[in-house]
Amino acid sequence: MDSAENLIRMNDFQAQWEMIGASALGAVERVGKSGRYILGEEVASFERDLARQLGIPFVVGCASGLDAIEIGLRALGLKQGERVITTPLTAFATTLAIIRAGGIPVFVDVDQSGLLDLSLVEEVLKKDSDIRFIVPVHLYGHVVDLVKLDALRAKYGIVIVEDCAQAIGCKSYGIAAGSIGEYAGTSFYPTKNLGGMGDGGAVLCGTLERASLAKTLRNYGQSEQYRHEMIGMNSRLDEIQAALLRDAFLPHLGQFCARRAAIANKYKHDISHLSISIPPVPEGSSSGWHLFPILIKQNRQSFREYLLKQGIETGVHYPVPVPHQKCLSGERTEVLMSLPNAEMFALQEVSLPIHPFLSDSDVERIVTVCNSWMP
Ligand SMILES: *Cc1c(COP(=O)(O)O)cnc(C)c1O
Repeated sequence: MDSAENLIRMNDFQAQWEMIGASALGAVERVGKSGRYILGEEVASFERDLARQLGIPFVVGCASGLDAIEIGLRALGLKQGERVITTPLTAFATTLAIIRAGGIPVFVDVDQSGLLDLSLVEEVLKKDSDIRFIVPVHLYGHVVDLVKLDALRAKYGIVIVEDCAQAIGCKSYGIAAGSIGEYAGTSFYPTKNLGGMGDGGAVLCGTLERASLAKTLRNYGQSEQYRHEMIGMNSRLDEIQAALLRDAFLPHLGQFCARRAAIANKYKHDISHLSISIPPVPEGSSSGWHLFPILIKQNRQSFREYLLKQGIETGVHYPVPVPHQKCLSGERTEVLMSLPNAEMFALQEVSLPIHPFLSDSDVERIVTVCNSWMP
């Protein structure tokens, strides 16, 4: 068995194209005919539609999730050398955005779910009243406890930029991810829950003033044509990408997330191997299941090889805690404590396929193969 076409992959963009191809081609044709390719009506319409769907007042399209976080931090006036609390267990882009905005990442360990541990964050803030910024990440599609996060802000006066790249449309106690931070950043990288056909991202925020600042920063720092108020970036979302997202992907977001949640429920219910554990979902989080993480205490490599031999691709999110990345050895970073949970996830985590195009029999097969592993 196990020919390439039998392989269950982490993503299935060909099946996706079968579903969205016609509307994608229609979107491209509309943009082509419009003759406008940069910052026109398509970007503006997509921003409005996404804002409405998320229940967040303003969305500002930009070039990537990385840029969205950088724009948020810069718009909030992060100063060179100012410290920013963040998580050691995330896509490297989170930390890269902090560094590019001039900040010094300060790593605080994660909790049992793999998300920034807000109790540890509070201990740090108690001791060090100079720290003003925090970038929490809603990892795996799970949402950091937003009630606690909001309370931390009230108590310590911190400024928050949420990393929503993996949690678009998700909630914590009914509060939308991205609506608590002064800004939030999200990504339309193809694998994300709302992924496009290339790179893209968006800044989310609650006021018109913040939205205009983000719009200025994404477009060379100009407030109007040839009037440059700030040192800005070129970080625009293309008209074509916005049209694709609006016509072909956004209408399916709810359905895709529901399918991911149904698969997650099946896994939680049916995977019963003693050597496989599933990290808890944070209290209050209605998750988007961008990924389905499991923990394999020992022999992770042999587990992954076994699944691959049975025709199932897996991932690891993430194998190296961010502060151990080579390029950070010459950079200013702070690790205020040991990071046992992040180290544990780095050693033990495996992500099972959970994309919305898995069939019921694919899911059955994944469960059966997991349960039949002999460590
Ligand atoms: C994907 C991702 C990013 C970066 O998004 P890009 O669009 O690839 O720049 C940032 N943070 C997290 C948690 C991500 O998963």
